[in-house]
Amino acid sequence: MAVNVIKEKCRGCSICVKNCPFEAITMENKLAVIGTACTGCGVCVEKCPFDAIEKSEEPKDTVDLSEYRDVWVFAEQREGALMPVVKELLGEGRKLADEIGCSLCSVLCGNHVEGLADELFEYGADKVYLADHKELESYRTDAYTSVIHDAIKSHKPEIVLLGATHIGRDLGPCLAVRCNTGLTADCTKLEIDVEDKKIKQTRPAFGGNLMATIVCPNHRPQMSTVRPGVMEKAERQEGRKGQVIPLSVSFEEDDIRTRILEVVKQAGEAVSLTDAEIIVSGGMGLGGAEGFELLKKLADKLGGVVAASRAAVDAGWIDHSYQVGQTGTTVRPKLYFACGISGAIQHVAGMQNSEQIIAINKNPAAPIFEVADYGIVGDFNQVIPALIEALDK
Ligand SMILES: Cc1cc2nc3c(=O)[nH]c(=O)nc-3n(C[C@H](O)[C@H](O)[C@H](O)COP(=O)(O)OP(=O)(O)OC[C@H]3O[C@@H](n4cnc5c(N)ncnc54)[C@H](O)[C@@H]3O)c2cc1C
Ligand code: SF4
Ligand code: SF4
Repeated sequence: MAVNVIKEKCRGCSICVKNCPFEAITMENKLAVIGTACTGCGVCVEKCPFDAIEKSEEPKDTVDLSEYRDVWVFAEQREGALMPVVKELLGEGRKLADEIGCSLCSVLCGNHVEGLADELFEYGADKVYLADHKELESYRTDAYTSVIHDAIKSHKPEIVLLGATHIGRDLGPCLAVRCNTGLTADCTKLEIDVEDKKIKQTRPAFGGNLMATIVCPNHRPQMSTVRPGVMEKAERQEGRKGQVIPLSVSFEEDDIRTRILEVVKQAGEAVSLTDAEIIVSGGMGLGGAEGFELLKKLADKLGGVVAASRAAVDAGWIDHSYQVGQTGTTVRPKLYFACGISGAIQHVAGMQNSEQIIAINKNPAAPIFEVADYGIVGDFNQVIPALIEALDK
């Protein structure tokens, strides 16, 4: 979109200057001049009383959408093991591929990782594009971007899904810029539009207070990073086979600007909330760090783990790695206890897909009871010991 002042018509009234929301217009020699801050919003075109500003459409890059087929899932691996989110993406990718009527493929990069292709087939991939090279052993932005971008250019997938992990969130935007296409980050829901088969990508925005559904109508591939823990894992079908398609990898030393000096494993407390079947979570209602000791007793009894709301983390009662919610981990255990947690939308966003939710809260009007399958109105200091006692019997 280009916005131009027609000099012959401009009377120098400055109305456009006042109305430009981006302060992009200045007056020079009594003529309006549009600067580089212009976003092409068109407000000045409407506001100029003398029709002295015109907007012209720039020719769009046209992409032949019909050339693009198949759903691709980025098979993120670390030290030769697939990340759990890959199985979730394959589960979701299968649904999308079936609805569009195309194949589900996976793109796998690493060093000596060909063995993982079988696992990807068993979780539903029909084809695996494999880039096996010593320079791909650990994730590096340039290396992975270059290989996968070349593969996208040659094989033209219609949809590319990546997990919204640290790696996926780094790689996704780099690929999208190279492919000159759209990317929606951290999606929590994907659907196919029944009419035109485009993918509708939904993600929380504005601190989780708004769900935005985004489409990418004119560019391909349609790319999303998907929040781990939200989609259901694909079921494993032992012995299922598919086709491996090797990708050519040729690097010059200078092509990769990052060097890995050392990989430091997480030094802090490591908790695996995403894999836990039972979670006993606590919030501000616990009143202090010692409240978590009581929750831990219940969690141990049930073979589960402890988790927390952000407020409890912010209060310094427990480490951030335990936080459930929009800015923490998304969980879907069989059983989720919410103790002294009010049920703010940002917390609920991370646990509402739990199979059973049990809320323990002093306040019967707490919003957590709206998502709970079972609710106990009471003080956790009394309820939890009573539960432990009952379990002992
Ligand atoms: C951008 C953004 C991102 C966020 N991300 C997250 C996130 O990832 N995770 C998250 O959790 N929050 C997140 N939040 C914060 C969220 O909005 C809430 O502030 C937070 O979840 C509240 O935590 P809480 O329920 O523990 O505390 P409160 O809202 O203070 O609730 C405490 C509850 O405990 C009850 N209670 C008090 N005493 C007892 C007792 N003795 N026994 C039983 N119940 C009792 C009270 O009735 C109350 O319902 C985010 C906020 C923003 C703006
Ligand atoms: S509003 Fe129109 S006439 Fe007035 S300064 Fe801007 S371009 Fe010129
Ligand atoms: S198009 Fe919008 S941003 Fe550009 S100069 Fe006009 S009002 Fe300002």
